[in-house]
Amino acid sequence: MTKLRGEGIAELVIAWQESHGRNHLPWQQTRDPYKVWLSEIMLQQTQVATVLEYYARFLARFPDVAALAQASQDEVMGLWSGLGYYTRARNLHRCAQQVVVKHGGVFPQTAEILVTLPGIGRSTAGAIAAFCFSQRVPILDANVRRVLTRLLGFENDLASVRNERLLWSEADTLLPNKNLATAMPRYTQGLMDLGASVCTPRSPACGICPLVSRCEAFERGHPERYPVKTRKLARRSESWQLVILRDAVGKVWLQRRPSSGIWAGMYCVPVFADMGSAQTFIAPLCAAPGVSCSDLQPFLHVLTHRDLHLHPILISGELPSEPGEDGAWLGADDWPSVGLPAPIRKLLDSTQPQLW
Ligand code: SF4
Repeated sequence: MTKLRGEGIAELVIAWQESHGRNHLPWQQTRDPYKVWLSEIMLQQTQVATVLEYYARFLARFPDVAALAQASQDEVMGLWSGLGYYTRARNLHRCAQQVVVKHGGVFPQTAEILVTLPGIGRSTAGAIAAFCFSQRVPILDANVRRVLTRLLGFENDLASVRNERLLWSEADTLLPNKNLATAMPRYTQGLMDLGASVCTPRSPACGICPLVSRCEAFERGHPERYPVKTRKLARRSESWQLVILRDAVGKVWLQRRPSSGIWAGMYCVPVFADMGSAQTFIAPLCAAPGVSCSDLQPFLHVLTHRDLHLHPILISGELPSEPGEDGAWLGADDWPSVGLPAPIRKLLDSTQPQLW
């Protein structure tokens, strides 16, 4: 059972954020929901240091939601390339288009409506609404979930939807009650900062935590036991054949991936999940005169819940003009402008012929 020890949690978080939190990040200097939304999406599963560079580049190219909505998907994926978790980029683009078409180019001002947009979950909707419109709504991203479950000694298993809902309602009761215009952005940021820098997954720095005198997990002596979540997604392992087709002038055949699944919608070399179909594709190409084929060093690419064992094969020389469907021959100059998955980009760079 959880127990909240009195009032004043929000005030402690707010005071700590003011003196110890992060206050100089570029997306904290604005209440423009487009910019805040962009930063929130980029920060999901990505470090601040990495996001800074991408955020600046995105805003330089797409200064507002209309510019992003009008862009081609390829350009958006190209700019996102290297940030990973590409579903975020596809949803980003779709979300911008929906804001323009359904909301007249103006971001909705409440979490309840924001959450109906592609790629905006409940916590992200809460963050945008709190930061930009000071709406009194909670957030519960991974960092905040950790802080709150520890603070409250919340022992219920978050694998259960019911318990997850219960934690949301606990989070709601902790929200500030006054001066919401300034309190909501600072409280929201404060919880995020605490989770990122003090209440860390391992060895939380309870000694410098502003909540230590109210924290159930600290009193019980086992902060690292929280949050409790029993269900683990099983890791899967797959083996893929990657066929690099390079023509006589050094261009590579790249085709668009299906609209769902790994690297959905991105450009990639032909991929085969089984050896049989790879051979059916490769054999006639390698049998043609003026074509050379070689196996390259296999490598492992680790995704969140999957290990991809990648086996590249390089086929170069006089190749057909259309060796596959929905693709194009693209030279190294074109690669940055289309969305290539990071390991594919790296692979292509490493197999580029040296011209000197
Ligand atoms: Fe986390 Fe420790 Fe602070 Fe509790 S006292 S919220 S466990 S850092």
